[in-house]
Order: sequence, then C-alpha cells, then structure tokens
Amino acid sequence: MPKDTITPPTAEALAQDVLAHLQTTLAKRQSSATDHDWRVALSLAIRDRVVTPWLDSLQRTSETGGKEVYYLSLEFLIGRLIEDVTINLGLEDVAREAMAQLGQDYTALAAQEPDAALGNGGLGRLAACFMDSLSTLGIPAHGYGIRYEHGLFEQHFQKGVQVETAEAWLAEQHVWEFERPEVAYRIGFGGHVDYDAEGRATWHPAQEVIAQAYDTPTVGWQAKWVNTLRLWSAKPVVHFDLAAFNRGDYIGASASEALARTLSRVLYPDDTTEQGRELRLKQEYFFVAASLRDLVRRHLKEGRALSTLPDYAAIQLNDTHPALAGPELIRLLVDEHGMEFETAVKTARACLGYTNHTLLPEALERWSEGLMKHVLPRHYAIICLLNMASLDETGTAILDHGEVRMGELAFVMAHKVNGVSALHTELVKETLFADLHKAYPDRIVNQTNGVTPRRWLHSANPALSALITETIGEGWVADLERLRELEPHIGTAAFDARFADAKRANKAKLSDWLRQVHGASVDPDAMFDIQIKRIHEYKRQLLNILETVALWNDIRDNPNGDWTPRVKIFGGKAAPGYVMAKSIIRLINDVGATINADPVTRDLLQVVYPENYNVSMAERLIPACDLSEQISTAGKEASGTGNMKLSLNGALTIGTLDGANVEIREHVGAENFFLFGLTAEEVRQRRTKPGHARSAIEASPRLKRVLGQIANGLFTGGEARYGDILGMLWDSDYFLVTADFDSYYATQREIDAAYRDQSDWTRKAALQTARMGWFSSDRTISGYAGNIWNAASLL
Ligand SMILES: *Cc1c(COP(=O)(O)O)cnc(C)c1O
Repeated sequence: MPKDTITPPTAEALAQDVLAHLQTTLAKRQSSATDHDWRVALSLAIRDRVVTPWLDSLQRTSETGGKEVYYLSLEFLIGRLIEDVTINLGLEDVAREAMAQLGQDYTALAAQEPDAALGNGGLGRLAACFMDSLSTLGIPAHGYGIRYEHGLFEQHFQKGVQVETAEAWLAEQHVWEFERPEVAYRIGFGGHVDYDAEGRATWHPAQEVIAQAYDTPTVGWQAKWVNTLRLWSAKPVVHFDLAAFNRGDYIGASASEALARTLSRVLYPDDTTEQGRELRLKQEYFFVAASLRDLVRRHLKEGRALSTLPDYAAIQLNDTHPALAGPELIRLLVDEHGMEFETAVKTARACLGYTNHTLLPEALERWSEGLMKHVLPRHYAIICLLNMASLDETGTAILDHGEVRMGELAFVMAHKVNGVSALHTELVKETLFADLHKAYPDRIVNQTNGVTPRRWLHSANPALSALITETIGEGWVADLERLRELEPHIGTAAFDARFADAKRANKAKLSDWLRQVHGASVDPDAMFDIQIKRIHEYKRQLLNILETVALWNDIRDNPNGDWTPRVKIFGGKAAPGYVMAKSIIRLINDVGATINADPVTRDLLQVVYPENYNVSMAERLIPACDLSEQISTAGKEASGTGNMKLSLNGALTIGTLDGANVEIREHVGAENFFLFGLTAEEVRQRRTKPGHARSAIEASPRLKRVLGQIANGLFTGGEARYGDILGMLWDSDYFLVTADFDSYYATQREIDAAYRDQSDWTRKAALQTARMGWFSSDRTISGYAGNIWNAASLL
C-alpha cells in the first residue's frame, strides 16, 4: 500500500482503540480510569498507528541499501510527544473528537504528559528538531543518545532565588518507547592494554557495564517515514553475566552495579562550562561506544565489508561530546576487525562529521591526559598517535598542557566540520580553528540552524497555522519557504485583521495561563516583550532588566507621557553552579516584585518570570510574543534557534548582529528588524580599552542612576545584595552590557513608537512569518545531507 494513502481512522474507531488499551493494557474499567490512564491509553492507541510505517521504513532502508545518518548527541530536548505525533499522523481532530466521545478533554490530557527534558537548551533542542526533519525528509537515520533517568532539573523560585529539584520524567512509564533487551553491549572502562609481538593491542577493561537500547519512533510529516531515536540505559553486568557473579567476583560485580546506577542517572546541567568530571567522560564514552558497536553490527549483518562503511554510514557529532567516536571507531576497526591503522583512520574520517556549537573558551571540552589514560587507556594511546600525525601534517596539537583538546580531536577525525550560522562559521575559521583551517581549507562549512515548523508553528500556534492554511493551502508545513505566498495578502485589511486576531487570541490565552499558574495579571493588549533562553552573562538578561528599571524610572518621572504598555516576560534556568547567573535571576525577580507593586506604573509596565522554562512553556510563550529579545554580546551566540521560533510566529526582533540574527535580518528585511549594539569586531576592540565599563557608565546618566538604585537597595528593602553584579559591571563587564546600554535603551523607545502604530506593526509581524521559511530545519537537514553526509531521501 502506498504510504501516503493510509486513511485516518474515524473518531469512533480511535475511541474503540483507546478503550481496548484501557482494558487490556492498563487493566482498567472506564469507571475507574484516572486522567493518567486515559492519557496513556490514548497515547498507545496513537502509537499503534506509528508502528507499521516505522517497520516499513526500517525494511525499506535495509532493502535499498540507502546510506544511514547516525546523529550522536548527548542531549535530545524532546518535550512532550503526544501532540507532535498526533499532528504528524494528521489525527488531531480525530483524537479530539474521540476523547470527547469518551467524555475526556484531549488538550487537557495532552498537557499532562511529562516533558522529556534530556537536554539543556539550544543544542539539545536542535537535535530533536533534526530528528523531526530527517523523518519528514525520508532520510534513514538513527538518533543516538542517553536515556537519562533524570532530565534537566526543575527550577523553582524561593523569594526570587532559583532552587533546583530533581526531574523525574521516568517516574511513570514513558509510553512512546520500546525497550529492547536484546540490543545490549558491554562497555568497558579503565584497565590496561596488552600488545602482542605484531603490535596488536588488546584492551582489558577493569570495569564493564551493559548499554541497553530503548527505541522511540520519530514520525515525519504525514507519517510517510519514521526513524528511530535509540537511547542507551546503563545496566550492571551481573544481571547479564550471572556466571561471573557465581564464580565469586562479588567486588567486580558490585562495582559494575554502582557504575551502572550512576552512568545514565542524570544529565549534566551545565550547558556552557565543562568541569572535567570523570562521570561525564564515562557518559560520553558509554553512549559513543554503544552507538558505534550498534551501527557496525548493522553494517556487518547486511554482509558488507567494513572498508565500505563510509558508503553506508554518516556519523554526525553534535558538538565535541561524542568526539571519542574517532578513537573508538579506529579501535573497533583495528583491534577488533584487524584493519590497518592508517586505513582505519581514513575510514573513520570518511564517516565522521563534527558540528561546532560554541566559541566560548570555557565551553570547549578538555580532559586531563591522566584521566583519559586512566578511564580509556587504549583510546589515549590512539589519541597520542593522532596527535603526532596532526603535529606532522598541520602543526596543530591535540594534546596540550597535559590536556586532550576535544575540539581539535573532533576536527582532525572529521571529513567536514560545520558551524551553525554564517557569522559563527566565519569566526570558527578565523579564531578557534585558524591553523587547522589553513591546513584543510575545504573542511569547514556552514549549516545555519533551523527549527521544525511542525512543532514550532503548526502544533504550537493553531490559530496562525489555520490562517496560513486557509490562505495558501497546507503545503507550507513540509515546504516552509512557501510561506512567501502569504506576502501578497499582507497589507490587505482582511488578512491583517485575521493575523492580528490570531496574535491577540494567543496573548489572551497566555495571560490566562499566567494568571492561573503563576498568579500574574497581565493585559493582553500590552506589548509582550519576551526573553526566553538559558541564563548566561553572554545572553545579557542583565541588559534587559537594567533597561526595565530605566524605563520604570522614566515613566515615574513623567507618568502622563505617551508610554506604550509593556509586559516583560523572562524564562530560563541557570546552571546550578553558575553564581553570577543565579544572581541575575534574583535581581530580575527583585526588580519585578518592586515594579509590579507600583500603582503609578502598574498599567504600563509589568515583569513576569514564570519558573521552570522548558519546551512546553516555550510552546505557550512563543505564539504570544510581540517582541523577541536576542541581545547577546556580538560574537558570542553561535546561532540561536529561539530567535527563529519567535520570528516565525510573528514576533519582531530587537537584536545584535550575532549568530543567526544576521541572517534573520537579511531574510525579514533590515527595516523590519530592530538592530542595536556593537558588532563582533567592535566588541573585540572595545575590550582592549582600559576602563571601558566605567567610562560607559559615567557617560550614561540613565544607567548610572539604575546602578545607584540597585546599590542603595531600592529593590531589596535596603539590603546591599548585588555587589557581585555591580562590581562586575563597573570593573570588568566582559560582555559589554554597559557599552551597549544606551543604544539598547534608545532602540526600545523606537519600538514603543512603532508599536503604537498597530496596523504597521501587524504588517511587519506578518512579514516575519512570510519571510522566515528558510529557517526550517528541513532546509538545514537538506544542507547536511547534500554537503556533509551524501545521504538521500528514500521517499
Ligand atoms: C529553542 C529552545 C532553546 C534555545 O533558545 P535560544 O534562545 O536559541 O538560546 C532553549 N530552550 C528551550 C526549551 C527551547 O525550546
């Protein structure tokens, strides 16, 4: 049967399936079913419809011998799946109707699914968007990662201070996954290496755990293709090898148990600092080793020679976290399959691609040579050989000051290295890998990030999605550049009114949610000004909150002025050990408490910071945004993807020339983008000026007043609480908050004026949507497929 003619079930049929699962899978009668039972039964009824296209896709891949993409990522920031899967199957109306027939509310049930947060932020969410696009495009692929028992911590505020609690998405059964007890590999750590007379190495690990697979099908648009997300869970060897246990090896057995308990227990919550922890290195090796074993086994099972692996496998490394894939693949080929070393290096390199995600020096992974040698002695020996070869050929060292530099390792072992926005890729060539780039001028390429329109427009913003479909048909969902067809309609009274209505409805929905869940009362007619992302100094939430205080001052000085009412919405978590970021969170909350209580400004300015920003919250906030804050210090944000989601949903951007902002501005038009601040080059120069921060503050009475108010305890009941922030701003200000303040403030006032012309604002907002089609992750994945993977669609 051609896959695109699968007819959807009727609501009655789906309701029957739900009841069948309720009874036979959950052993519940309708009368005693809880909301949880209903949701699980519905999810399973929907999941059933993924299985056939999934098995068909796997079979077709095997039959055609198509090249497979293996996307190795330590993070997949997935979010909820029920709506995503339902929408891709085209079942949202049927599901809603079926549940209504059963007396249940589909939307309410869907909102109860735990949010799978197996990632920190942009990098993990990119991996999830890529899985969606790989399936939509019909490119055979496996995503490989770790099935963390605890995803990213939950954030709570106690008196404005971030506190973290453990997240427990697996406390209840994860309905979308299939446990694969038969797909299990022994993964070793430590021990020593023996060499025989011919120099052949044998690694004798001191410790072993089992990596066991759990598969989640990832459905593409209209279920024409389904790929697999295979996540590894660590299990102790004892259960696997009872014989060793019976021989009396209790100590070895319990060591494996202890390691297995911790290995896949928790996601590291630092997205931008590497602390060189042994467990983290073991996590990285664990999932890389299991994934490579798995793909090599698949290759051999098809009866193919290992020398042809590059014809069948494209292995993409999402940042350096999986960079051990180079040495591990060499080890497999040489030690376990007898390939000659040089050939193995060439074979591995032909398979591997590496995506760089950051220029921040503190985020670049380095491991002490001692630790590497201790945990992975054979890999360390291979890295030493690669280091010598690299010094020979390029003059660049992988081993440096007693450390293994994972960026350099990933670079030399990849046939292509890519940056994630045009600006970022140029900076990678000029700064981070300048020497390697000289040696291999064709290796670095750009693939600007994208986001999946299925989740980030069609599913998250049904009001706008319906308007688009009514205007230009449904084709845009899988061909986002067709949003351009909206342009002739923009500026007509009928379309603009409906676009404005959709935005207004989304804002009303968000303000209801903010009232119910967060006790905040905001006016849906005010401008919704949103900054949602991890809290980091380079992302400059501090700049935003300082400007908020300055605006508050100016309104109080002139309460009858022509002000534009604003709601400043913040969302984001700080790494638990990042003291400055946590201080910034507390400052935002302190300022918010003071401003929100001020009767003079109450109708003009509000600050809202709902706790625990995650994918599900992003789906609520993004459709309701008027103004998107993308204000990082130029040269620091590799790409950003939040910027794309917001603009795609009709938000205008205030932003610096950083990351993908540059390309967004080119696409939407400079006249529809609020640019401010120093360029990356100006930032570099400015930093070299001694006392640059102090002189910027002295030159800005507005900023100086704000800093004085914070110093005097205006927001802290007289307590001096923010000496750390103030000291940093006066004395160093590496991220140039002070230098950009006046430019930012002035641009915000231009935005106030622009917002007062609502019909022009709506026109500009609609143009964002119409012109953002290029930022689909489908386009990004087509780029990887053509320029890096040489992989084709099997649709
Ligand atoms: C998209 C997304 C991000 C990335 O946001 P940036 O603004 O690009 O840093 C982070 N977290 C979540 C939950 C997201 O959905």
